[in-house]
Amino acid sequence: MKKYNLLLLGPPGAGKGTQAQVLAHKYNLIRLDTGSLIRAAIQSGTDLGLKAKEFVSAGKLIPDTLVINLILNELKKIKEMDRNFLLDGFPRNLAQAEALEQTLKANDCKLDFAVEIKLDFDKLLDRITGRRICTNKACNAVYHLQFSPPKQENICDLCGSFLYQRDDDKAELVKTRLETYQKETLPLTEFYKNKSLLKEINGNQTPEQVSEDIFKVLI
Ligand SMILES: [Zn+2]
Repeated sequence: MKKYNLLLLGPPGAGKGTQAQVLAHKYNLIRLDTGSLIRAAIQSGTDLGLKAKEFVSAGKLIPDTLVINLILNELKKIKEMDRNFLLDGFPRNLAQAEALEQTLKANDCKLDFAVEIKLDFDKLLDRITGRRICTNKACNAVYHLQFSPPKQENICDLCGSFLYQRDDDKAELVKTRLETYQKETLPLTEFYKNKSLLKEINGNQTPEQVSEDIFKVLI
């Protein structure tokens, strides 16, 4: 099995989490997602964690430099273990991508591929806005009006509770999130395309087919 350092790009609703799991398992990669890294640092009370906590407590975005330092720490550990990484949710913009490249270079490390899961805007909107979740927190079952509807309208098959739509999944908000994603990601994909690292994957298919397509381009 070849060894890769990978980066996964894709809009909200593209099933990036599922693919990240599959890839991490198949290629024995350590998955780095910034959300978990930040939470872990805060919990462990490291210097970086304490700094991150100040921003989180103040309801502010954590600055790029802090996130990069967190990632840099992890990358060093991964390198010492002679393992490889999968970056998920980072970089989010061009500045972060450039900083990441510097960091990798300085540590004698490099990215092998940036995998982008591409989806049609309309299909994404359908996917996300169709999602319904069980109001029973202990159940938390997820349905989709089109793809996996409940047997009885608006009622959970498993526990009989009502279903609801998360605020995050409502059309107007989703549109804003997708537009932000497109605006920030476009320069990012161009950056990796220019370095011949970008692999574009058709996300308008089943998760299994998406995985297969990713395996095919990783050679
Ligand atoms: Zn339920």
